[in-house]
Amino acid sequence: MNYNVNEKGYYGVFGGTYIPEMLYPNVEELRQNYLKVMAEPDFQKEFQQLLKDYVGRPSPLYFAKRLSEKYNTKIYLKREDLNHTGAHKINNTVGQILMAKRLGKSRIIAETGAGQHGVATATVCALMGMECIVYMGEIDIARQAPNVARMKMLGATVIPALSGSRTLKDATNEAIRDWINNPVNTHYIIGSAIGPHPYPDMVTRFQSIISEEIKWQLKEHEGRENPDYVVACIGGGSNAAGTYYHFLHEESVKIIAVEAAGLGVDSGESAATSILGKEGIIHGCKTLLMQTKDGQITEPYSISAGLDYPGVGPMHAHLCKTGRAEFMSATDDEAMKSGLELSKLEGIIPAIESSHALAIFEKKKFKEDDIVVVSLSGRGDKDLDTYINYFKL
Ligand SMILES: *Cc1c(COP(=O)(O)O)cnc(C)c1O
Repeated sequence: MNYNVNEKGYYGVFGGTYIPEMLYPNVEELRQNYLKVMAEPDFQKEFQQLLKDYVGRPSPLYFAKRLSEKYNTKIYLKREDLNHTGAHKINNTVGQILMAKRLGKSRIIAETGAGQHGVATATVCALMGMECIVYMGEIDIARQAPNVARMKMLGATVIPALSGSRTLKDATNEAIRDWINNPVNTHYIIGSAIGPHPYPDMVTRFQSIISEEIKWQLKEHEGRENPDYVVACIGGGSNAAGTYYHFLHEESVKIIAVEAAGLGVDSGESAATSILGKEGIIHGCKTLLMQTKDGQITEPYSISAGLDYPGVGPMHAHLCKTGRAEFMSATDDEAMKSGLELSKLEGIIPAIESSHALAIFEKKKFKEDDIVVVSLSGRGDKDLDTYINYFKL
């Protein structure tokens, strides 16, 4: 079984390029060039240098001793929370801004929901002196004021999406419209392992630095490259894709994906796409997504903004359908409890997204000598208000 993308842009039956005809030249230019550009020694040199000096990589692989004792298994945390800007998203935006430069683009557009991807994009645009336009739903702009302020400080223009539900999918529509109108000088930075081919594969490759590092770091710690399990939370699926990438075809490594169950999978307020979703088209690709009987996309819900997405990337839809990955979910309450537990046991306050991945230890029993690597996708600073309100701190 192949778990990587094929030449046609598919993971099994998922993926592909479902875009308006007017967008075809832009996506095709990227498709024809992305692997060539990524293979250039010059590109790799600049990418690796920035990952080291700007992002702060390699991120540590930390043996969580007290957490391991509590659950009677060996738990390692891949510390993406220590990256510049506080999460894994910067790995992708650094890669894509270099790609944009190589393709001769001078203007960057992006869509953002909670604002994390908008901030990561505005950051690399400042770094490279490129114009940055971020589309964001009007409702999200009101909900995420600190991230809007960050983007503005970094020099980005934030344009409100005023149509539809005025949230992420409307911002995405605006970004696509912009790209159609500016095909020559503009690159569209997508923030997760989603979108028309080649985006899911390109984003996965930029994020695959996570599993590349896990391999040599685990070898240093344990004398072997492969853990027994790799675990990550899934919104669109970019931190998960990067965490799994170098283990996809290692049969001894089990893969666990953790979705946000929100108030409960059957509550009507959830983002557990693998359970609630059906095959459909979102954001330019065929994948699993939450939709009504008529195929209208359903508003998802999760306490964590980064997991509040109605689909999963096509790679993950394939991993789910083939059974290569075990899909689990954690509710708001379970995730919040795990976030507090990590804070108290290890002195690490995780992003609420990452707390979902940690919640599986209450639900699944691991063997004493199992090595379980969990992607700690981000830090909890951005979530402090949510933690305060939830725990009445
Ligand atoms: C955005 C975000 C996620 C979810 O995005 P993926 O593409 O699924 O990784 C998870 N964790 C953090 C900290 C995030 O900011």
